[in-house]
Amino acid sequence: MGPASCAGKGSPMRILIVEDEKRLAQTLGGLLARAGYAYDLAYDGDQGLDCALSGIYDGVVLDVMLPGKNGFQVVEALRRAGRKTPVLLLTARAETGDKVQGLDSGADYYLTKPFDSRELLACLRAVLRRQEPLAPEVLAFGGLTLNLSACTLGWGEKWVKLSARELEVMRLLMANPGHVVPKETLLLKVWGYDSGAEDNHVEVYVSFLRKKLHHIGSRAAISSARRLGYFLEVKDD
Ligand code: CA
Repeated sequence: MGPASCAGKGSPMRILIVEDEKRLAQTLGGLLARAGYAYDLAYDGDQGLDCALSGIYDGVVLDVMLPGKNGFQVVEALRRAGRKTPVLLLTARAETGDKVQGLDSGADYYLTKPFDSRELLACLRAVLRRQEPLAPEVLAFGGLTLNLSACTLGWGEKWVKLSARELEVMRLLMANPGHVVPKETLLLKVWGYDSGAEDNHVEVYVSFLRKKLHHIGSRAAISSARRLGYFLEVKDD
């Protein structure tokens, strides 16, 4: 259980502890380990944020007064990046203003030091329970399956790897079954406003996807709606 390592996998829930007082950090780690959690330690706000952004943690126990970014800034940055990882803020400061700031910054719960170890574990369980259900990782259309986390597209037993842009184009088509997705929408959502990408980027990626669909023997195909856009349909044999 090396300090400040972002790496690691395993079946127990994995908690990131961000705490600059090393003795306290290790005490917390021991407490979590005895309660059945895996954990990693980070000793300042910047390192803590990098680790938290890795997305491998089920929860974060976060001190407020830290070198580098403070705890509030870490939570704010995490939420700005779209991460919903539950965060339990920990601090010696007990003023109401701090608590409000902590919760406003996006933390799920606020615990004041010194705390009872049973209280900490109960709070941690509470914030972990509150975690939102994960977004679906798999989209399906006809017999076609798009695995968003593995970046793969499958028909029957055959799978093919997609690039990030191919995945996004396919995701938009599969999320709108039976509807024409305008080229403009694909362009804006996949490439963005300022990318300088043009309509033919969409056409090129659709042609990549058509080749891959053909490769896996898919009867689901990307059809063109005149010059408007694209939609998925399942063709007869
Ligand atoms: Ca501290």
